[in-house]
Amino acid sequence: MGRKHIPQRTCIECRITRPKRELVRIVRLAEDGVTIDETGKKSGRGAYLCRRKACWEGALSCGRLEHALKTFLTDEEKGRLRAFADSLSGVKELEDMQARTGSSAEQRR
Ligand SMILES: [Zn+2]
Repeated sequence: MGRKHIPQRTCIECRITRPKRELVRIVRLAEDGVTIDETGKKSGRGAYLCRRKACWEGALSCGRLEHALKTFLTDEEKGRLRAFADSLSGVKELEDMQARTGSSAEQRR
């Protein structure tokens, strides 16, 4: 029983490589268009972004996400992604704190 292999993925915006589950997968589906793939298992062309609002805003505003997914985003799709990005703002500090201190931040409470 060896150590479990942790798949790594790279954020398309900041190019930081992280464990796959720390990133959010965006997938282009044949039927539903571009959407957030929380399970990471939907089939389609996918791209990964950090759970950092800045990465989402950057990827959306400069067209990097569209380029990665080889598609053009509709206003509805952009709205959906921006809404998700907005929901990330509250966890940013926590995530940064965890990145610095590991899991010890939780034990202090
Ligand atoms: Zn990033």
